[in-house]
This record gives sequence, C-alpha cells and structure tokens, in this order.
Amino acid sequence: MRKPDYDDVIERLHAVADDYGGQLTQYAEADGYPLYHLDLPGPEGAPRFLLSAGIHGEEPGATTGFLAWSEHDLAKWLHIFHIEAFPCLNPWGFERGIRYDAVERDLNRCFKDDPAPPAVQMVRRLTEGKRYAMAVDMHEDCDYYGFYVYERLERGPNVAPALLQRIALEGPLSYGEEGDEPPIEQGLVRMQWPKDKTLVQLAAERPKWPLAFYLYHVADHVITVETPGLQPLDVRVRMQRAAAETALSFTQRRLGL
Ligand SMILES: [Zn+2]
Repeated sequence: MRKPDYDDVIERLHAVADDYGGQLTQYAEADGYPLYHLDLPGPEGAPRFLLSAGIHGEEPGATTGFLAWSEHDLAKWLHIFHIEAFPCLNPWGFERGIRYDAVERDLNRCFKDDPAPPAVQMVRRLTEGKRYAMAVDMHEDCDYYGFYVYERLERGPNVAPALLQRIALEGPLSYGEEGDEPPIEQGLVRMQWPKDKTLVQLAAERPKWPLAFYLYHVADHVITVETPGLQPLDVRVRMQRAAAETALSFTQRRLGL
C-alpha cells in the first residue's frame, strides 16, 4: 500500500477547487506543514455544510475518504449548499501514521485550550460567527471491524438510522466490543447524557474539548463518523463517501431544499 503523502492530498485538493470554482487557502502551518481550508460557496445565501478530516494522523481513511467524496460526489451539492472543509488537520501525523502532532498532543482534545495548536486556531478563526446546518467530523477507529457513528442532537430527527442503513451496504456495522463505554449498538454509540442540558452546557462542564464539542457552538447538527481501521482502505473510503452523501441528502430534506 502507498504511504500517505500530503503533497498528493494538496495536489488533489487544488484540482477539486479548480474544477468546482472553489478556493483552497492555506491559513496556518503546523509542524512544518501547511494547513488548508477548502471553500466551495454555492448559491448566494446557501446553507453551510462543514466536513473535517484527519485530525488524528493514524486514521488515513478519513482524509482519503474526503478526497474521494470531493472528486466523485461533490458536484451535485454545489447548487444547494455552501460547502466548507478542513480536509487534513494533522498532516504531520497523516504522513507518519501517528495519532498525535509532533509534540504529542491529541489535537482532538485541544479545542478548549488557550493558547491552542495552529490547527485548532485555524478552525476557530474560520468558523466563528458562522452557522452550519450540519458538521461531519470524519474519523476512523483502528481497533474496530465495524463502522460506528456518534450523534448528539437536542431536537429534530436523527440522521443515524438512514446513515447506518446506507453504510451497511458497504461493510459491517460495529456491534461493540467488550467493555465499550458508552456501548455501541448496531453502529450507533448510545451516549448517556442528561437530557435537561443543552450540548453547549454539557460542553462547558468538560475540561478538554474534541472538535465535536466546539462544533456544537457553530452547527445545528454534529455527527462524528468512525470507519473501521481493520477493514481494507477501499472499504473505509467507500464508507466515508457514503456517510458524507447520506448526511448531505438528510440535511437537504430536513431544510426542505
Ligand atoms: Zn479519530
């Protein structure tokens, strides 16, 4: 298998931006690598949809899946949504297959930190004051054979049933592992959390924020998808594509577009 190559990622992202009238802009640098934001505006006033991938370096199927989705599936959404993406938030880790950044930080626990790592600062700077109809954080779980998703929602319908039905066409869903806390049932993480508190209130009680906790402040609907690292990369890439597609069509229907 080819080693993950960030230059190849950048080249493909530039091609996507050029093909679809978007902008690929470097907003930061981390561990000697440029960090990019991809902006695909769509029609005036279109609802915003955010995708993020690659904050954990040992989860290559997230960034690779995002690339495959953007190359094959993106075009049909551009007349409906304003799509933004952070395609690879930890390029140092991506090239080395390491979860953390060069100074051993888990960037997906640094979203409340001050000062924060460059990738975190970039995400905050580019999303603050905006409102996203939905945000999808793309991950992998290296220890799993099956796919699973986190979905926390204060109100409105969940995307998980449709998403899991679609993912099951590509490969197995996770039925959980011994000792999982919270438990996973047929691909859905059964979050135990007090219903009398908003997501923002719950986040405020936590000392360390993953990206999803930050996203609760800027998005109406946040999901984290985890493709199974023990499956072949092509299966995981198809799962990531299918997840992005299902999330977009769900949001399109939810907004009546
Ligand atoms: Zn992860």
